[in-house]
Amino acid sequence: MNTLKELQNLGQTEKRMPVLFIGHGSPMNGIEHNEFTENWKQAVEYIPKPKAIVVVSAHWETRGTFVTVMPQPPTIYDFGGFPRELFEAKYPAKGSPETAREISANIKQTAIGLDDKGWGLDHGTWTILRHMYPNADVPAVQLSLHYDQPAQWHFELAKELTFLRKRGVLIIGSGNIVHNLRKIDFHGEREFEWAKIADETLRKHIFSGDFQKLIRFESLGREVLTGIPTPEHFLPLLYTLGLRADDEEISLFNDKLVYGSLSMTSIKIGN
Ligand code: ZN
Repeated sequence: MNTLKELQNLGQTEKRMPVLFIGHGSPMNGIEHNEFTENWKQAVEYIPKPKAIVVVSAHWETRGTFVTVMPQPPTIYDFGGFPRELFEAKYPAKGSPETAREISANIKQTAIGLDDKGWGLDHGTWTILRHMYPNADVPAVQLSLHYDQPAQWHFELAKELTFLRKRGVLIIGSGNIVHNLRKIDFHGEREFEWAKIADETLRKHIFSGDFQKLIRFESLGREVLTGIPTPEHFLPLLYTLGLRADDEEISLFNDKLVYGSLSMTSIKIGN
């Protein structure tokens, strides 16, 4: 039986928003226009304009979990060695303190801290949103990655965010499923064999629906381990998958390797 509160919430529900995982790649994608950024734009072209966007970015790792609550989050330039033009790019989207507070109030698994000045929108967020919503007219918040917790914990936390999908909130995991910067080849055209195998293996399990295999990625073989030397760029995928309902289709885009060891593979769940 539904409680009165649940019935009231049902009355407010709308169509479930899709969920995305975006392989963000180089920060330069923030100011470039290429095949990847074109597909980012297309991924949101036919969905209703979100009330807010929540991004789980590979680039915000914390002890404990936090959500940005500031009304005007700053654009963060969390990289070095790029042209000045990239440091001059801004993404002036507002924050959504209401969404941040809703997340904090509804998550049971762990206490979610409200971050009012420590962070903002890092390049895992703004470089992709600049293409999806170039007018910066949708409020955006970030949810951090608790670096002390295992993959299963992140997957379970994601499920608790499901309620947001029916409140017009677009949730995006932003990382790269294969991401090994030590083996990167900026000038080469080749694709490393191990990177191809790692990307194929991970994609196979995304589509098999057996996400436990992905949660235990450490047992998927040497190639996958080379592709995921540290988990922060992979974990955002588990947030996206944790938000999938059983009847929802997954579509794939940008399934391509760049710099030999970085996969841009991205998915959309629902439509
Ligand atoms: Zn990154």
